[in-house]
Amino acid sequence: MTESHSLPASDWPELEPGWVWLCGAGPGDPGLLTLHALNALRQAEVVIYDALVDERILEWAPKAEKIYAGKRGGKPSSVQRDISLRLVDLARAGKRVLRLKGGDPFVFGRGGEEAQTLVQHGVPVRIIPGISAGIGGLAYAGIPVTHRDVNQSVTFITGHDQSGETPNTLDWASISRSSQVLVIYMGMKHIGQISGALLDAGRPASEPVAVVSDATTPRQRVLETTLGALEADLAASGLEPPAIVCVGRSVLMRQVLDWQGMARGEAPRNLDPLGRGKPAESA
Ligand code: SAH
Repeated sequence: MTESHSLPASDWPELEPGWVWLCGAGPGDPGLLTLHALNALRQAEVVIYDALVDERILEWAPKAEKIYAGKRGGKPSSVQRDISLRLVDLARAGKRVLRLKGGDPFVFGRGGEEAQTLVQHGVPVRIIPGISAGIGGLAYAGIPVTHRDVNQSVTFITGHDQSGETPNTLDWASISRSSQVLVIYMGMKHIGQISGALLDAGRPASEPVAVVSDATTPRQRVLETTLGALEADLAASGLEPPAIVCVGRSVLMRQVLDWQGMARGEAPRNLDPLGRGKPAESA
């Protein structure tokens, strides 16, 4: 480890032999790791990581054996069971085990199931939260997941149900009524069904939608569209998973907050996309 990788002075916990730390790796950009995650990477003897964990993050664990436990799309639960049991075996073998998952381990990541299996087998665990794609990924696209002028609640939705197939088990009508901003994970495969359900439930076809793929990575792409045009525009865009879909007026804020575009020298498209009126006078 170089000097620049050293942690600020503090009582950093030790990843002890026989323990499993279940840790979020954030949405991609290694800078979005927590210090606890970095502390874990530096101590782990084994890192079991998912498809969504950015390769650059693994470089922070040069000593560790790295085991890929990736599975994307409709994931059979037997695979999940194998991973959980593998973690148990490694812990029982006295390894310092780091289970690294994309985003936050407890947000649509089956972290709860894995941790439960570990506890059921008597394996001690520590949970390290991470920045979830549905919050941090949208922030990298200049979209604040809440805004005083837009929403008092936000709903995080998975586009897959337990079978990995369709989002049919969701009550789209009640979601539509109750939440001004919807953040949809794993929504790409069924986007036509999802947008159709939202339109049927009364959300306007003109409602702003953004799709952010590979958020926070150098490959990040953003599609801005409307609910009515979502399916066709997405198909035409060629955007691929992983992607977050955000439905709601907070998407408009990207017109003034596309900070990555501004860093490249682009001018903000609209200084007042929500019609808040004049900016407050500075002193
Ligand atoms: N635990 C993760 C979510 C896992 S579910 C988290 O908290 O972020 C997998 C879904 O997360 C993907 O299908 C996609 O919808 C979303 N996702 C994860 N990383 C992403 C990224 N870098 N960009 C866009 N979406 C991402």
